[in-house]
Amino acid sequence: MGTVSGLSEGFNPSMFDVIVVGAGYAGAVCARRLAESCSMRVAVLERRDHIAGNAYDYIDDAGVLVHKYGPHIYHTFDERVHQFLTRFTEFTNYQHKVLANIHGTLMPVPFNHRSLVLAFGEEKGERLYQKLVKTFGENKKVPILELRSKNDPELAEVADYVYENVFLHYTMKQWGKTPDQIDPAVMGRVPVFVGDDDRYFPQAPYQGMPAQSYTALFERMLDHDLITVYTGVDARDLIDLTDKSVMVCGQPYLGEIIYTGALDELFDLDLGALPYRTLDMQFETLDQDQFQPVGTVNYTVSEDFTRITEFKNMTGQVVPGKTTIMREYSHEYVPGSGQTPYYVINEPKNIELYKRYRERVSGLLNFHVVGRLAEYRYYDMDGVVASALDLSDEILNQR
Ligand code: FAD
Ligand code: UDP
Repeated sequence: MGTVSGLSEGFNPSMFDVIVVGAGYAGAVCARRLAESCSMRVAVLERRDHIAGNAYDYIDDAGVLVHKYGPHIYHTFDERVHQFLTRFTEFTNYQHKVLANIHGTLMPVPFNHRSLVLAFGEEKGERLYQKLVKTFGENKKVPILELRSKNDPELAEVADYVYENVFLHYTMKQWGKTPDQIDPAVMGRVPVFVGDDDRYFPQAPYQGMPAQSYTALFERMLDHDLITVYTGVDARDLIDLTDKSVMVCGQPYLGEIIYTGALDELFDLDLGALPYRTLDMQFETLDQDQFQPVGTVNYTVSEDFTRITEFKNMTGQVVPGKTTIMREYSHEYVPGSGQTPYYVINEPKNIELYKRYRERVSGLLNFHVVGRLAEYRYYDMDGVVASALDLSDEILNQR
């Protein structure tokens, strides 16, 4: 049915079987599945002026395709997710590579065989590599915290080097805490790789970039006769939750609500704010073909930004004489300040608070929460798609 800017006068919620809040992956996947599998009429309410959530991309003034909310690289092990998304786009064969700038030397991250040789020299690097192979096996991923726990002087030397030069300062910049102070799963996202594969997502069978753009992927996903997208609409102005029922535009709503925003916002933070990290992203267009050799360079020991992304290196777009790069500066998120809550902070006290908000909606059988914000989880795109596919299956099975 298309996309409408703002809520049309006479918007009548009862014309829709489903109201989806948010047009990111979580919302768009549910909208599509419910419309096409069960002929449900779906309204998607999105407060930004565009679809695609944090995966939104657009052509900037220099003609370069850029990712507005940070570099997004598709990768998954999940066959079902991949099959679903490839209905709406082809993916290029882009294999994401990241280099760490360590005192001016560029070394592969995840730290691997080649990084060892670059860090320790040919002979010693090889010897340490053989030790890693003997301890963990070849082509294995070893989280830095596991490597640090080994009681062997040579392994300790590698662990200390990687901890200090790859993780410590970057993590301090990104989270304001040391690697030991945060959820171990976060460090586990970028394990040391005992092997030669120098891709950021070693072994992921599906990876690449959407052949056209992420936004085009979403346009196709949301292009269905039974889906209407309303942009520039904050659902909190319409939706009101009471103990027993969901009200929309002042009337009890009997259809399904799929909410993908932050749960604390929905209740005006009345139990306290859920903590997040946010990013300032500084885009810069340069009059040159290329700035750096790979998609992303992490500044793991120097600078106050964490990484620089060069979009053309990821999309393969050809724009002679121009390139756009982006630096990321991380800091604490302040609610109500117009910042975007990008990263959940997975700490027990935050999860406790989240659960208390979650309990408030648990009795509302037609109110569902899904997505990185609504589930307060550090999901990648594929995790959100999987969660949205599960939720839509559940709703479909009930009908
Ligand atoms: P979102 O994309 O945040 O969408 C939620 C939408 O809901 C938003 O558009 C928001 O405006 C809207 N909304 C919220 N509240 C309301 C309201 N009250 N009314 C109306 N609309 C509302 N994943 C990868 O797989 N690979 C990557 O390389 C990668 N890089 C990333 C880099 C950065 C810097 C960040 C922050 C994330 C990255 N991700 C990456 C993760 C990816 O962005 C998320 O997993 C995914 O986009 C989350 O989708 P979502 O639908 O849950 O949330
Ligand atoms: N990390 C690091 N150095 C690196 C890369 C990652 O210290 O060179 C740590 C850092 O704490 C980061 C986490 O590992 O937040 C996860 O990195 P990832 O690249 O997965 O983060 P994202 O792309 O989600 O920002």
